[in-house]
This record gives sequence, structure tokens and C-alpha cells, in this order.
Amino acid sequence: MMTSSIRYEYPLLRVPASLIIDDWSVVCLNEQGGVEYKKMRKILLSLLDLGVKGKLSLVPCIVSSSGEILGYVNKGIKGLPDNELAETLRLIREKAVKYFDITPEILTHSFVVDTESNKTLSEKEWEWSQSQDLETLTKYIAKALEILKDVGVVANGVTSPCDFGREVEGIYARAVLEAEKKIYGIKLTWYFLNVERCSRRVTPRLMYFDKESEEAVVSIPSCSKDHLARSEDPFKSIDNWIAEDGSKGRLVDVYRNKSYIIFHTHWWSIQSEESLKALRETIARINRYFNVVWMKCSQIARYFAAIKTTKYKVLESNQETRIVLDPLFTCENFTLSIETSKPIRKINVSGEPLVHSTKVEPNTWTTIDQRTYLCFNLSKRTIVEIKY
Ligand SMILES: [Zn+2]
Repeated sequence: MMTSSIRYEYPLLRVPASLIIDDWSVVCLNEQGGVEYKKMRKILLSLLDLGVKGKLSLVPCIVSSSGEILGYVNKGIKGLPDNELAETLRLIREKAVKYFDITPEILTHSFVVDTESNKTLSEKEWEWSQSQDLETLTKYIAKALEILKDVGVVANGVTSPCDFGREVEGIYARAVLEAEKKIYGIKLTWYFLNVERCSRRVTPRLMYFDKESEEAVVSIPSCSKDHLARSEDPFKSIDNWIAEDGSKGRLVDVYRNKSYIIFHTHWWSIQSEESLKALRETIARINRYFNVVWMKCSQIARYFAAIKTTKYKVLESNQETRIVLDPLFTCENFTLSIETSKPIRKINVSGEPLVHSTKVEPNTWTTIDQRTYLCFNLSKRTIVEIKY
């Protein structure tokens, strides 16, 4: 039967890859407790040259090590000239968003802020989060999103500081959705919380899905620890991700098991020129040995939600196979394959012809070993006609 032979594939038949950069903000604290912005700007600029896509945290509220609020990225930060803050935010809005989703790493990445009094509590965000209800978490996440919205950033997902929300993950996932709906009207969202260092296969997870309201939440996990964190020899450390000859490493293991190549590092892991070079080398090795497509986390979340929830119907006759797809979530470069036993004359997607190609590219079809691969942008109710 044709029907059972339909399979949703990776986009462009390439493995989705994404680089997650954690903990970054417009300033960091130096040893004297003062704020420094030049270092953070430099790291931001170097991220734009990596040639990859992924996610970058922008911590919305800066808190000193003793718990004093030094400021918010939308209101100004003590010790940071306003024009310098504006320049860094301009780089985020105009340059960084081409490559990275910008997310809060909740509010402070340290002490909890009481949203009523605007004072910090003695608890850290990740400790506090483990026993909160949906309403409280939603409010807290919404506060972080609101600040980023105020500086012109669309944060379509969130990053967990440490293991924020881990013990109440189901509630946390819903809270992310409720907060995104409230601040941005976004109904398909995602979060980064989990690091799966040992799982054989690592994929995103559809944590919540509601067909009626067309809402979904996707968990985007990293498949590895940050091998550049506190490394004394960055070039040696990156072999733990992928060896120079591509033969071994955590990324190689998960790639062989058809996993997504999503991994993370921190801004402070790539402060030195040498560690940044090592990150560039890691990326070069990935591009050399793997067949990947770099995607933002939100693009992966969207694609994943689409392949998990799109229903299809197949109608067959001698002259054609017609596939009717009814997606709730649209996406780019949707790729499906179908077993084919007779020569195909042409393929139309919603009335428009797909180009015949020798390899899988956007808006093309190609046949490899009795399977035909189609790649097109998935829109609401897509009709595929395969004509013989
Ligand atoms: Zn962090």
C-alpha cells in the first residue's frame, strides 16, 4: 500500500543542527563587581561570523552577586552608558536575529525577583522554580519576555537558567506557552532545559499539543555537555565533540544514531581567542563530516511540531497519487518521501509544479532507489499531485 509508504524526513534530507549559546547579556560582572560591556559586544560580533544558526541568551535583568538589581536591558544598567547599551541592542535586533533566536534565560540567571516589589529574594531562580504553580511561573516568564519585547526582540522561546523548572517540567512547558501567548501572541513555542549527555538518540520532544487551539510546546535538548567550559586545552577538548578525523566524539555518536545535532556552550567558555578558534574548528568539522542544515531552535521546533502533528490522506488512481496534507503548523523545506514503482511525469504542490532535481533542494523532487523525495514549503492544506 502506498499510504503506509509515506514518510516525513529531515528537512532537505539533512540533519538539523543548532548551536546554543547560554548566559550572554549586554554586560557581565568583573571581579570587583563592576559591569563590563566591551567583552560581551566582542563575543556577540564573533558569533555573527560563525556561519551557524542557533540560539543566544539575552539575560534581561542584571543582578550583583549580593542580590542588588543593577538594571534591566530595557531601562538601563548601572555603570553602562546608555549609548553603548543602545548600540549592543541594535546589533541584536539588526544582525544577531538573522542567525540566532534571542531568548531570556529567565529573568536574572541568579536571584529571584519579586515581581510585585521589584526586590530580589534570597532564593536562586532555579531553586525557587521547582515548587511553583502555573500562574506564578507564567507571570515570571512573562516579565522576562516583556522586557525583551520592549527592546524590539521577539523571543519566541525561553532558556532555563541551570535546571529551572526541571522538577515541574510539564507545568513549566505550559507556563512558557501561556507567557508567549500573553506577551507576543505566539502559540508555537519552545524551551531549552535538558542536556542529554548519554542518551543514544537525542531529538526534540513535543511536550504539549492542542489541536483545537493550534498550540504546541517543544523541548529542545542539547546532546552534550559544554566541552569548552573551563577547558585548559580547548583544541584537545573539542575532540570530545568531534575528533579531527571525524571518527569519534559525542556528536559523532548521536549523528550515527540519526539524532539532531543540537549542542550548547556558554559565552564565558569562548572568551579567549583560543577557545573561540576551537569552537570554529568544531563547526568546520561538523560541516566536513556530517550532512547538516543549520537551523535556529525555533525553526527546529516548528519543523518538529509539523512532522509530529500533520495528518495526511492519500487518494490513488492509475494516473496519479494525490496526498492531502492538513498541517496545523506550517514550515519551510518540508520533506517527505514516498515509495514509487512507476515513472513519474510531474509533481504539483497546491497547483504549482515542483522542479525535478538530482538532489533534494528547496521546491524540488528527486527519486533515489524507488523512493521519491519531495521538498516544499508546507502551508495550510497542501495538495500534492504525483502524475504518472
Ligand atoms: Zn545558564
